[in-house]
Amino acid sequence: MIRVEKLNKYFGKKQVLKDVSCEIKDNEVICIIGPSGSGKSTFLRCLNALEKAQEGVIEVDTFQVHDPKANLNELRSHVGMVFQRFNLFPHMTALENICLAPEIVKGQSKAEVEVKAKELLKRVGLEDKAGSYPNELSGGQQQRVAIARALAMDPHVILFDEPTSALDPEMVGEVLEVIKSLAHSGRTMVVVTHEMGFARQVSDRVFFMDQGQIVEVGSPSQIFDHPKTDRTKSFLSKIL
Ligand code: ADP
Ligand code: MG
Repeated sequence: MIRVEKLNKYFGKKQVLKDVSCEIKDNEVICIIGPSGSGKSTFLRCLNALEKAQEGVIEVDTFQVHDPKANLNELRSHVGMVFQRFNLFPHMTALENICLAPEIVKGQSKAEVEVKAKELLKRVGLEDKAGSYPNELSGGQQQRVAIARALAMDPHVILFDEPTSALDPEMVGEVLEVIKSLAHSGRTMVVVTHEMGFARQVSDRVFFMDQGQIVEVGSPSQIFDHPKTDRTKSFLSKIL
C-alpha cells in the first residue's frame, strides 16, 4: 500500500529526513515512535504531499506521490489525515464538518452523505452530537468528529499525527478506543504516537525514528521488550 525509497527532505540547509525507506502492507497498522524533532510529522506529511521531499520515491496506493504530475486532490481523497489539533470548522456543526468533503470533492448528494455521516457519528460514539458546534464539544469529542470526518472519504490509508497529544488526560482513552476499533477494518493506518501502551496493543509493526531516520522496525514486542539499537533503548528508557 505504501512504498518509500530513499526519501531525503531538507528545510533550507537542515536535513530532516535521511534516506528513509519502508514498505507498509495493505491493512497494516504501523505506529511511529521517536523523540520530538525526529521527523515523524514531516514523514507523515510527505506521504500525502502536504510536504514535498527533494529526493526519493513515494508510492501510496496507486499514486506516485513524488511525481509533480500526481493528482493531489485524488491522492488526498484516498489518504485521510487526523491532526493533533482537530481543525474542525468552527462555524459548522459536527454533521456539517463530516459532510463537507464528500459533498464537495466526491460530488455525492447531500442526502446520501448525511446518512453516512450519521452512521460515522454513531461509530465514534457521538450520534447525539450531530447538531453540536465544535465549541460545544470537549476536546475528545472534537477529535472523534475529526476521525469521523476523515473516514467519510472512505480513505484506503489514514495517517494520524499524535491524535491524543492535545487532549486533557481524561479524554485520551476515548479517542484511542475509537482508533483501536478502526484497526484491521480494511484500512491501512500509520499512527505517530507517544502512547506506548496503545502502540504495543494496536500495531503490527512499530517504527522508531530518530534524527530523520527510521532507526529500527519490529513487532511491538521486539521494539518494546528487546530493542536492538542503543538509540531505541535510550529513548524507551526515558519514557517507559
Ligand atoms: P517530530 O514530528 O518528530 O517532532 P518534525 O517532523 O515536526 O518532527 O520536525 C523535524 C525537524 O524539522 C525539526 O527539527 C523541526 O524543527 C524541523 N521542521 C519541521 N517543520 C519545519 C518547517 N516548516 N520549516 C523548517 N523546519 C521545520
Ligand atoms: Mg510531530
